[in-house]
Amino acid sequence: MNEKPKKLINTKGLRLDGRKPNELRSVKIDVGILPNADGSAYIEHGKNKILAGAFGPREMHPKHLQQADRMVLRCRYHMAPFSVPERKSPAPSRRENELSKVIRDALLPAVFIENYPRTGVDVFIEVLQADGGTRCASITAASLALADAGIPMRDLVVACAAGKVDNKIALDLMDIEDKIGTADVPVAYMPNLNAITLLQMDGKLSLKEFENAVEIATGGCKQIYEIQKEALKKKYEIIEQEEEVE
Ligand code: UDP
Repeated sequence: MNEKPKKLINTKGLRLDGRKPNELRSVKIDVGILPNADGSAYIEHGKNKILAGAFGPREMHPKHLQQADRMVLRCRYHMAPFSVPERKSPAPSRRENELSKVIRDALLPAVFIENYPRTGVDVFIEVLQADGGTRCASITAASLALADAGIPMRDLVVACAAGKVDNKIALDLMDIEDKIGTADVPVAYMPNLNAITLLQMDGKLSLKEFENAVEIATGGCKQIYEIQKEALKKKYEIIEQEEEVE
């Protein structure tokens, strides 16, 4: 077993991976990578590697779950057995069921569900590698998968957490900071509408610290939003180039 480090921020003010307290992990996103899904996205957020595939809008099954006036959005968050150091059972856990709901609730305000009565949209999220903050990275990828499926949305949803480590508010906690740190505040955000769609807090913070965490997490969301938009644009640029060649 690895020994836990005593300090998460060193004397130079840097974290275990060399980041400053207000620095994001590196984020890479690709859109439209699964030909069998209606929309898809792949995100590498730090060491997290996550795939999201969206299907629909299509006729809602089972029919008794259909809504006469709107689309039903369903999300399934799943961690692969090899995604964490200690093998995770492939069977859905209570945590995965909860995160599936949390992710769905974070995406729902962005989707024009009223445009597609009686239909269903499914978003499947597969965490291939996890290192803290997977719910946030999943929301960022799932929102792109929905957009890629052509589902009309008010805005993209982007998510990022902030928390408290070694008595300092820090952006985008990785797994070890999440586990040893004092608090974690995941935030999902619609940047154009300036609206928060998910706000959770695990741990203890003073009101001032909480407000500071929300502010820097929102700042992180704005940075990731730029990468989200670029990823979406890139897909259409590639299609355009392919059409020109034909
Ligand atoms: N984790 C793990 N095994 C599990 C579930 C989670 O090792 O069965 C790790 C994983 O790295 C995850 C982190 O714990 O990212 C934090 O999990 P949490 O429930 O706080 O959700 P997250 O921060 O990923 O949104």
